[in-house]
Amino acid sequence: MISVKEAQQLILNSVGKGSAARAETLDCAGRVLAEDIISPEDFPRFRQSAMDGYALRAEDLQARLLKVSGNIFAGGRLAASLKAGECAYITTGSPVPRNAGAVVPVEDVLAGAGVIQPRSKIKKGDNIREAGDDIKKGAILCRKGDLITPQSIGIFGALGIARLKVFLSPSVGIITTGAEVAAIGAGRLGKNKIRNSNLWSLAALLKSCGAAPAFSKALSDKEGLLPEFLGKLEKLPEIVILTGGVSVGGHDYVKEDLEKFGVRKLFWKVAQKPGKPVYAGVKGRTLFFGLPGNPAAVITCFYLYVLPAINKYRHRREIFLPEVSARLVAPLKAGGSRAVFLRGRFKDGKVEPLWGQGSHMLSSFLKTDCFIELEPSPPVVLKKGGNVKILLLTAC
Ligand code: AMP
Ligand code: MG
Repeated sequence: MISVKEAQQLILNSVGKGSAARAETLDCAGRVLAEDIISPEDFPRFRQSAMDGYALRAEDLQARLLKVSGNIFAGGRLAASLKAGECAYITTGSPVPRNAGAVVPVEDVLAGAGVIQPRSKIKKGDNIREAGDDIKKGAILCRKGDLITPQSIGIFGALGIARLKVFLSPSVGIITTGAEVAAIGAGRLGKNKIRNSNLWSLAALLKSCGAAPAFSKALSDKEGLLPEFLGKLEKLPEIVILTGGVSVGGHDYVKEDLEKFGVRKLFWKVAQKPGKPVYAGVKGRTLFFGLPGNPAAVITCFYLYVLPAINKYRHRREIFLPEVSARLVAPLKAGGSRAVFLRGRFKDGKVEPLWGQGSHMLSSFLKTDCFIELEPSPPVVLKKGGNVKILLLTAC
């Protein structure tokens, strides 16, 4: 049996890198940039008021009384220069007159008929946003290989960057196996049937890292069905994820069937829990993952093996889940010949191993935001407050 690290390396050695294409910026959250982004203009675009108030000249900062010469509203007509002893009523975000030195907020003036009296000291530059005070034209905003976050999309919008060059995600097919597996929503289920939750888990995980499934297929456990189905595909996707049928059960035909189809084995079985019987292989440019059927093993193996493959394909700099150290909230039994990945919850530097770690159990995933990784070791009880390595599930 190989280690998790060895298995990950074998996979990464077999993944190619995808090409790039232009896409609408609004569709790019969660994708990876294939170009550096240089700001085409200043942000804010123009010198503007930060408050509803009165714009006045720097020379009139000490004036006791100012004549209100006009109104400047956001999106309205541009204002002329201010004359000596005059100010202009202005709303937040409106361009200030060219010679304005400050804005005094409405709350800080006594307003009379066509005149105001500033009630507080005003300094030059008060309540004025300079053009480009946030982003200067020509500034490097993002680098090739950066993940595009939803919060960055608004910045690109503000700067008029309507399209981005992004790396393509791999096409991924999902094949579930098992005579007991029924389509979700298929109506009344027999006592011997289960719903295809692995399909939903995988489809949602793929979406969360920018790779929607190209196809999905549920196959029964009959030997030969898999090569028959794969043989009929017009084109193999870059990645095929299978679940179930990869262990040593009487109806587990996935490994043999894949090899019949011409897939070359990279590994079968990894010293880990959950997910020991995980299989990986390649045929041409297609990577095959044979994940065990147990729902928790599917999700864990996705994060450990499929996600890094997708990340490498789409040129991400961070290939693996981010690792941090956290203190245990309670003592924890560890040790054994396999690495263990426990579902955990991370808060304030501390991690709680969650109830419900069985590989058939899913409810703990409702709270899971990290895996606690325990390396193989002689049996040991880890102390409360002791440090453990955790893998964060935050950034895909
Ligand atoms: P297997 O690896 O095929 O022996 O399956 C292991 C366990 O996972 C069994 O309890 C299966 O019923 C369950 N299982 C297999 N496929 C799925 C699936 N697509 N969705 C949910 N559970 C599954
Ligand atoms: Mg099965």
